[in-house]
Amino acid sequence: MRQKGTLGWLKHDVTHRGITAWLLTGALLAFYLVLYFTDWLTPIAKSLGLIHKWNLYGALYTLAIVTGGIYVIAKYRDNRYQVIRTSVVIFVQSTLAFSVPYVLELFNQPAVYLSYLWPLEISILYPKNLASAPVYFAVWAVVGSILIAPILGIFYGKRWYCSWVCGCGGLANTAGEPFRHLTPTSQGWWNFEKYAVHITLVLALLTTGLVGASYLIGPEQSPVLASYANSLQSWYGLLVVTILSGIVGVVLYPIGGTRVWCRNFCPMAAILGLVQKFGRFRIRVKDDMCISCGMCTTYCEMGIDVREYAQNNQDFTRAACVGCGLCEEVCPRGVLHLENEWDRDPQESLTMGALLEESYK
Ligand code: SF4
Ligand code: SF4
Repeated sequence: MRQKGTLGWLKHDVTHRGITAWLLTGALLAFYLVLYFTDWLTPIAKSLGLIHKWNLYGALYTLAIVTGGIYVIAKYRDNRYQVIRTSVVIFVQSTLAFSVPYVLELFNQPAVYLSYLWPLEISILYPKNLASAPVYFAVWAVVGSILIAPILGIFYGKRWYCSWVCGCGGLANTAGEPFRHLTPTSQGWWNFEKYAVHITLVLALLTTGLVGASYLIGPEQSPVLASYANSLQSWYGLLVVTILSGIVGVVLYPIGGTRVWCRNFCPMAAILGLVQKFGRFRIRVKDDMCISCGMCTTYCEMGIDVREYAQNNQDFTRAACVGCGLCEEVCPRGVLHLENEWDRDPQESLTMGALLEESYK
């Protein structure tokens, strides 16, 4: 039913795929096309005292996370987990993802983004970039991406990154909060998700491997390899980094929910999801308490049918779950609880072969 009162119709329309939602999607698409494929924003950035258009985009992105974050903190102010998590998201975006790289650039130093790890930020492990980066950042890029991220994933699930640190998840869980219920839950989308996200991961591994091999062997020694590596790097940059991550991931908020990129294409989410299945994170279900209201499924930004697990009294660890904790928050019966424990049901222990099959069930 439509809300009464000033602009109530607009609120309803924009968050439920009405005409304003489609207009907003169109406006976001136009903005991103201008941002990525023209220099029209450069004079505006310079007139504001910024160095280039990406500083302007960073400032707008941070503003969206800060204002959306304040809204989320006010909305869930009685939930300690949500208040702390959202505060950390705001802090990480404001400092590591915006202020620190901007100040470094002001002092003519290379801008480094400490909160973005490989393979989400694939280029940080390209040998040419590692060789030219400051030593502290090169060490962090390798150790953070290959060791620290997966280890933290085993202990705390993918939520430590996807819901506390990453800027993509940060925007989804703050400015994107009004759209979280739009994520589709159909079996068809599940099937698409599990193939698409792993295909992107394979592409990321292949691109990094080829670019690395070409650098080590040398383009003069193997021009064919160098040509393939350059082509793959360019295609990955355009298709995955620019279109899927940069544009599609945000543009589709008003009609497809906030985690289109995270759920279907992010290679970092794919790795951490596989790690999560081996680790401690799970959602514990209290037996025989669920009244099947469906609030948990509606609020799940990853399109997981949480209610089905609750109805079956089944604890679960889904690879897709980003541990946002909203299913726990909205459940009127206190059925669900996010936890990190080792006492895993033997049935949940999977071999690697079974893991790939089971991970997105
Ligand atoms: S299952 Fe719960 S914690 Fe996991 S993504 Fe969905 S709402 Fe968030
Ligand atoms: S929100 Fe709680 S009571 Fe409602 S369906 Fe989900 S687990 Fe059951």
